Amino acid sequence: MLVDPYFTRVGLWSAALNRPIASRADRVDEGYKHLQPRADAILVTHAHFDHLLDVPELLRRTGAKLFAGPTAVDLARSLGASNANAVKPGDVRRIGPWTVRVLSAQHDRLFGKVPFPDRAKARKPPVKASDYVVGEPLAFVVEGSGERIYIDSGGVPNALPAPRMEHVDLAIVGVALPDSRNRFAEIVRQLQPRYILPSHQDDMFAPLGRGFHFGKLTNYPALKRVHEKEHLPGEMIFLDYFRPWTLR
Ligand SMILES: [Zn+2]
Repeated sequence: MLVDPYFTRVGLWSAALNRPIASRADRVDEGYKHLQPRADAILVTHAHFDHLLDVPELLRRTGAKLFAGPTAVDLARSLGASNANAVKPGDVRRIGPWTVRVLSAQHDRLFGKVPFPDRAKARKPPVKASDYVVGEPLAFVVEGSGERIYIDSGGVPNALPAPRMEHVDLAIVGVALPDSRNRFAEIVRQLQPRYILPSHQDDMFAPLGRGFHFGKLTNYPALKRVHEKEHLPGEMIFLDYFRPWTLR
């Protein structure tokens, strides 16, 4: 199972100047080398380009089914994806050895607003970053082998995922921007995870081959301070690209 797989890494200027962007076969090749060749499912938390751009290509390569909100599904279909399934909060899907629960989520605001909110654009094939509209942000809980993994790509304060979820084994929580960092303590307190992987921390505009660099708007030391000062549950983990880690 893959969640928000993204290997192309559109450059900062192509995104900022809203130039045409596309999935890059050479970079998908590099990333795909690190994956199992086949997958049951790709889960997508929302339809922005850094979550969806490479998904149609990876659906073809892995034979996976896509599970995402209706907007992400429409955009993926307009790019030729078959096997795309729209899900909504409250849905429960059994996929391969897993049970996947779909939860509501919110997207961080960037300079005061959610980027690219215009749902109407999802009717035609996306060309530029702004065509990858946010759609319906989701979180997922994946259960299997007696373990429970929560995953989202961010959030805002005072908007916890519903339905309520606690005692997860691993919480993968987006912390790219100040909004999601400001809700870090409350979501960790609700989820009561054994392990926490703060994600979406790297510079998503730099090629993966350059190795891990923190994004300019991230602040990992601040998260560590919050975790310590507020005596939050769970052990924080940090992973470099493609470094395997086993949940036990
Ligand atoms: Zn986004």
